Amino acid sequence: MRFAVIGAGMAGILSAVKLREAGFDEVTVYEKADRVGGTWRENRYPGVACDVPSHLYSYSFELNPQWSHLFSPGDEIQKYFESVSSKYGVEEMTRFGDEVIECEWLERGCWQIRTRSGHDAEVDVIIAATGVLHHPSKPEIEGMDDFGGSMFHSARWDHDLDLDNARVGVIGTGSTATQITSALAGNVAHFDLFQRTAQWILPQENPAYDESQRAAFADDPKSLEDIHQQFSTIFAEGFADAVVDADSPQIHLIADACLSNLEENVPDGELKESLRPDYVAACKRLVVSPDFYEAIQRPRTSLVTSGIDRIEKNGIRTVDGVLHELDVIVFATGFQADAFMRPMNVIGRNGIELAEVWTDRPNAYLSISIPEFPNLFMLNGPNGPVGNFSLIEVAELQFDYIFQLIQCLDSGDATEVSADPAATRSFEADRVEAAKSTVWVTGCRSWYLDDRGIPSAWPWKFSRFQEEMAAPNMDHWDVRSPT
Ligand code: NAP
Repeated sequence: MRFAVIGAGMAGILSAVKLREAGFDEVTVYEKADRVGGTWRENRYPGVACDVPSHLYSYSFELNPQWSHLFSPGDEIQKYFESVSSKYGVEEMTRFGDEVIECEWLERGCWQIRTRSGHDAEVDVIIAATGVLHHPSKPEIEGMDDFGGSMFHSARWDHDLDLDNARVGVIGTGSTATQITSALAGNVAHFDLFQRTAQWILPQENPAYDESQRAAFADDPKSLEDIHQQFSTIFAEGFADAVVDADSPQIHLIADACLSNLEENVPDGELKESLRPDYVAACKRLVVSPDFYEAIQRPRTSLVTSGIDRIEKNGIRTVDGVLHELDVIVFATGFQADAFMRPMNVIGRNGIELAEVWTDRPNAYLSISIPEFPNLFMLNGPNGPVGNFSLIEVAELQFDYIFQLIQCLDSGDATEVSADPAATRSFEADRVEAAKSTVWVTGCRSWYLDDRGIPSAWPWKFSRFQEEMAAPNMDHWDVRSPT
């Protein structure tokens, strides 16, 4: 069978490795950039790290004894993906610098892929590993074109800039802005953090693994498996299972830990109140930082809580009339979390276009498949457990599930598989109902919420996800066989 894997980030690398391992040798990975790595290739801002423990944020088949920290920095994670890709020959399978712009299902039962360079190919199966938080979201602010300095999104960092003597303004207070603050505040001429909404900040230390600990992991692979499993359990029980139940005791524990962090580390009363969130903890994606409160109190650092009025040649003017003079403006304003495969033009059976199917919002059965789009499977597609669990663990479980459908095709038992429309509707109705109990609907704005204010993420516990992913319920699949 012929496969196209779209995207050479974490999930694309995984797919290529697994398909090759299963003996499929007609696998092409399409990657629009010039390197593997996905989010870790693109997010190179100062302070970038992963707030999932590194021993959990690793492929189960390539555990890494050499992680430097509990939460290792972004460039180390990028090198990890590069080394896995090299080891398993993923780079040789990849067309770099070639963006897939269209996938069309042909009546004769295969997909035609077209790329920006004009290349086209026919394949039997597409695995869309196009990422979730991928397309930067940059608000339109009046006067943006007038700014005289440098201005960019956090995922498009300008590394040519010398920031030592620059006045830097960061817009946003999510995980990204918080990490940038820890890295830059006090280390530039002046640092302004423009906060629209205060965050809950979980104070999680980030200890380094010393040489002897790394050697011990290398000598005993079982200990690596154990720590991977331990973190998976801790993460599921302490965080992932809590956010889907707004009344869970863990939410209160998280809130207590965050409030103590604020009380103990911000002595100034006015600043403390400015930093105090007024909604339920973990309603927005929880920010994890050992030193954000310390960083925001460093010399030459200000928290700006007055709203942004406009951008001018010399900086940002807030609604209180103050001009905050800046040389650099960073938009740490997040991502278009509902883009998924788009803007790729995907055309399924009978000419049906994905753009049409997803006019209101993206939707997929178990986050994997869309009715009438046969033999096209998504990893980390819509309505999946994004932000709750380690996305690597999620992608591995999804791949194993998809692989069972691929085997069905490979055996000749079926020629086309896609989600059954009724099963998809029923899954969506259950998901929307379950979403009502999650912490994400307790009254805050976040990228979890769709245009109706309904969380788009998986609203159940991790154990349910594992159970669902164990094996496809074939009654929920539209399976077409050779005639
Ligand atoms: P985000 O969580 O979506 O945060 C965006 C921030 O920008 C918010 O503070 C938002 O304010 C603010 N904002 C947006 N538009 C604005 C406007 N017009 N004016 C003023 N402020 C505005 O984005 P992110 O920090 O890039 O993080 C996205 C996700 O990526 C995270 O939730 C996390 O899942 C992931 N991430 C993970 C890590 C990690 O360590 N694993 C690191 C970075 C990111 P409001 O809150 O008021 O809307």
